[in-house]
Amino acid sequence: MEIVLLYGGKSAEHDISILTAQSIIQTIDYHRYAVQPVYIKQDGIWVAGEKLTQAPDKEWSLTLEIADDAKYGADQSTGREVVPTDVLSENTLAFPALHGPNGEDGTIQGLFETLNIPYVGAGVLASAAGMDKLVSKYLFEKAGIPQLPYIGLTQYEWQTEQETLLNAIQNQLGYPVFVKPANLGSSVGISQANTPDEVVDSINLALQFDRRVVVEESLANAREVELAVMGNDYPKVSVPGELVKEQGFYDYEEKYINNTVQMAIPAHVSDDLMAQLQTYAKQAYVVIDGSGLTRCDFFVTQDEKIYINEVNTLPGFTQFSMYPSLWEATGKPYAQLIQELLDLAMQRYEQKQ
Ligand code: ADP
Ligand code: MG
Ligand code: MG
Repeated sequence: MEIVLLYGGKSAEHDISILTAQSIIQTIDYHRYAVQPVYIKQDGIWVAGEKLTQAPDKEWSLTLEIADDAKYGADQSTGREVVPTDVLSENTLAFPALHGPNGEDGTIQGLFETLNIPYVGAGVLASAAGMDKLVSKYLFEKAGIPQLPYIGLTQYEWQTEQETLLNAIQNQLGYPVFVKPANLGSSVGISQANTPDEVVDSINLALQFDRRVVVEESLANAREVELAVMGNDYPKVSVPGELVKEQGFYDYEEKYINNTVQMAIPAHVSDDLMAQLQTYAKQAYVVIDGSGLTRCDFFVTQDEKIYINEVNTLPGFTQFSMYPSLWEATGKPYAQLIQELLDLAMQRYEQKQ
């Protein structure tokens, strides 16, 4: 069988996606699969590289600087431009190593469904619902998972009812608040607002990225604890891991450039807290109709209150990222994790036929 490994993509997480693909490409079991790498350029053009029948012996490293040179022949000079149906055909299994809009939000999953090919990771609904921070909140509420108080607004509402919304933010949430575009990741377009004046700027900023925005209570000094979930009908949950930060806001720079974020795996939490987090993580997975994989992210306050923050259906997936590290600590090495994800993709596909 041939794995079509899609990476790059039209998103802010383009570079991290290349690193994810590099890790996967080194780990695939080439006795069972050939790999067709397909690099999606920033402008959305698909470029197919050389087909691989063994792990490339090229050195690979984790720095973003070299990532651009490391596209395994799928750059413009040696790759060939393709359209999706050139590479996605019978006997292929798609592995979208893509993060953010177009890769993680159900759109490319819809393409796989339309072409009737199996693919790794969440389906259309879970991808779309997980990427949308507002829809996620409605679902978490339905599942009874605790979350921070929030207000959702559309661009139209902001234009027509600004005063009412500002009053609601003041009265229902109080300052400071966090303002986020509904559909995005990697902290892009997200800011904290401490006053009504600042919130106007924050909302206008977020509206540059989406027509829907979430405003939510801001937590000071909360711990950020994440769990990995995996499976189709019988999801399993990992031990929790914690992001140990030097500063409060885990922004794009911190995440991908400064590397000042350390991971504590497993997180230092009591058994009770761990069990509670695992229960909520599984509930979040089920309520979005998760399959394949998802990372569930929580805030834990100093007095051990838990709030779910978000789910990421295609979390960072290099060998050293949180998601695989959580499974490693739970007894599942990276190669096994990849194989199980491929198996889950096939199982879901066969169930539907
Ligand atoms: P993304 O999908 O871009 O990762 P998040 O909702 O996880 O968006 O927000 C990014 C980061 O911003 C979080 O990891 C956390 O550090 C900070 N953050 C988000 N919401 C809050 C909040 N309500 N209170 C305090 N910090 C927050
Ligand atoms: Mg996210
Ligand atoms: Mg996040």
